[in-house]
Amino acid sequence: MSTTTTSSHTPFAITERTQRASADEIATVLENPGFGTNFSEHMVLMDWDREQGWHDARVVPYGPIPLDPSAAVFHYGQEIFEGMKAYRHEDGTVWTFRPERNAERFNNSARRLALPELPPVIFLDAIKELVTIDQAWVPEAGSGETSLYLRPFMIATEEALGVRPTNRALFVVIASPAGAYFKGGLTPISLWVSELYVRASPGGTGAAKCGGNYAASLASQAEGIEHGCDQVVFLDAIEHKFVEELGGMNMFFVYGDGRLVTPELTGTILPGVTRSSLVELARERGMIVEERQFTIDEWREGVASGLITEVFACGTAAVISPVGRLAWNGGEVAMPDSHEVTMSLREELLDIQYGRGEDAHGWLYQLV
Ligand SMILES: *Cc1c(COP(=O)(O)O)cnc(C)c1O
Repeated sequence: MSTTTTSSHTPFAITERTQRASADEIATVLENPGFGTNFSEHMVLMDWDREQGWHDARVVPYGPIPLDPSAAVFHYGQEIFEGMKAYRHEDGTVWTFRPERNAERFNNSARRLALPELPPVIFLDAIKELVTIDQAWVPEAGSGETSLYLRPFMIATEEALGVRPTNRALFVVIASPAGAYFKGGLTPISLWVSELYVRASPGGTGAAKCGGNYAASLASQAEGIEHGCDQVVFLDAIEHKFVEELGGMNMFFVYGDGRLVTPELTGTILPGVTRSSLVELARERGMIVEERQFTIDEWREGVASGLITEVFACGTAAVISPVGRLAWNGGEVAMPDSHEVTMSLREELLDIQYGRGEDAHGWLYQLV
């Protein structure tokens, strides 16, 4: 069945799956959704080429995307992505959090990777279309921290091995019901300090959300896991002493005197939406937030002296994760056991996202 919707700013041609999943089938998946392993029934596709610009917005059944083996993305890694969540509220409505930020960041990433920018209104409409048709895949309110994770991405599709910015691209949005990100629930995570590798360097792609950054982080992630850690914390590429971030999360340090420190955005750190939201929430509750350079020694000494009382990492997927241990080649240090500020900031943010608290900043955006 094919229909076109004009309910949004962008007309999407809609091809619905002929056989929709039953309520029982969906319920079985939502009982134990995992993270990023199950997908909803549809996806959004939209083409771009240099002559026509963006065209052919469509919603189609979820499935493989045919691509020529010479498509540029396979060879030179021209790919960018975003990560967002759709949250169901108690009254059944479905919302997402600050999606304009993601749309804007998507375009910043596009510019850095020489991909075409996508008008933010199309980005927002695409998400709305997908969540509308697959709304049964958004877990019920009150089921803890479950959501429908949204993954917009863009790839270079031009069939040519020549090295140059692509003349053709594909924008895609897929959706995946999500439970808690870390398997151990809220068990504090352990971090490995990578001395062999860096994530990003000045002038590089660290501030862009692109698959290449993740590809480059996997060897160090494997090294961290070999050393019994959950994640890797990356230092700056020049002096190897400033704390930057994890492979996919920003870092915060809580001081007993009410200060909150997070590494400043120097161009090598991904500007997280969660990060900037927490900076605002913390300032509003009277904390002094310092966005500045922060060294690994300051971290170790701050924990040893007791000045640092809590450490946490944050991002859309995992929300806020307390850090329990820092390990490196030749040593390790346990973080303090308190997670009071961490957990209360976490609660405040989740309350806004799930509609349990007041959305004083207008951060929520209704999808259904
Ligand atoms: C996506 C991402 C984050 C977190 O960003 P949010 O907008 O908060 O989800 C942090 N660091 C990296 C490297 C990322 O890719």
